[in-house]
Amino acid sequence: MSVKQVIAEIRKELDNFTAVRKWKEETGQKVIGWFPPDVPEELIAAAGALPVGISGFRPETRLAEAHLPRYVCSFMRGSLEMALRGELDFLDGVVFPHACDTKKHIVGLWERNCRFGFVHNLLFPRQLNLPSAQKYYRQEILRFCSALESFTGSKITTEKYQHIVAIYNQNRQLLREILRLQGEKQLLSNEDFYLVVMSSMLMPKTESNFFLTKLLNELTHGKGSQNMVPVVLSGSLVETNGFLKILDNCRLIAVGDDLYTGYRYFCLDVDGEDMLGGLTKRHFNQIPYSGYYSERHQKSEFLASLATERRAAGIIFIHLMFCEQENYEYPEVKQYLDRKNIPSIRIELDYQTQAWGQLSTRLQSFAEMLGVV
Ligand code: SF4
Repeated sequence: MSVKQVIAEIRKELDNFTAVRKWKEETGQKVIGWFPPDVPEELIAAAGALPVGISGFRPETRLAEAHLPRYVCSFMRGSLEMALRGELDFLDGVVFPHACDTKKHIVGLWERNCRFGFVHNLLFPRQLNLPSAQKYYRQEILRFCSALESFTGSKITTEKYQHIVAIYNQNRQLLREILRLQGEKQLLSNEDFYLVVMSSMLMPKTESNFFLTKLLNELTHGKGSQNMVPVVLSGSLVETNGFLKILDNCRLIAVGDDLYTGYRYFCLDVDGEDMLGGLTKRHFNQIPYSGYYSERHQKSEFLASLATERRAAGIIFIHLMFCEQENYEYPEVKQYLDRKNIPSIRIELDYQTQAWGQLSTRLQSFAEMLGVV
């Protein structure tokens, strides 16, 4: 089987959420959607439900715009559109981490218009360096556990949790290995790589592990082309169509990122022995994210060292239009990278855009500047 065939199989499972629908039909259990970042999916799975990451890559958001102004980011408009169109009809509940103002304020709309049996707000601390932050995080985790248990009617036992953590850690290890090989051999296009990461959010993890193992096997034996210029992507999330296709055409390949639909999703395993301690440790050791503040962990330094470590020629900031927190943080990060002579470019995206011409020209120029001939 070739890499292309494995990717085609994965695509088939994702089409119209086939894998999720099949799981629900076979098990008769609940499916709980979650918005990124940092929702501890392991707890949802240990409570007997299937966690599914919600994406919002919709070209048109007519229904959502009856409820939301245009200056809400296209991710949140797109996901509400999907829900209003009934495309997420397999969901029994949804979890909102309050990691940005948009997610915080949109919950009421989902509650009123989508009527899921379970809507949970995860109020994780935004200032990670405060002395009370870890204690507060642990309380939130306990509150989440008890909400899940009463919704699913299933207790989160130590045995169940440890069993789930082993499967989830394996999934993350497989993704990290695929990313490592991307840096070495560049066998997957940008579009396919981020589709693979996304598939892990959208499939039961045992099924995802099956596909990732198959893919890894093909990638390990495949011969790399090495005719792409390596770059690092920075932002919140990336959709798997337009922008990534342009990146592929410009012969720029992502070998690292800080996206919550990318490396942030799989960079850290969790310790299964001590549930509260393990989840807390992971959360507070995560890579920097613009929604959280921590003096200890600066995004500028992180990106510079990631680019060096992954031998990237430059950094592409992919910012969603109207994502305020990314905009606030950007000038400082950019100045730091300039001082370090790391080339970078900032692209502002809207997932409802259909006109990619100007963006393509800008990325082409950036690619030429980095040495693509
Ligand atoms: S893209 Fe920005 S504004 Fe939109 S949900 Fe993510 S963090 Fe919030």
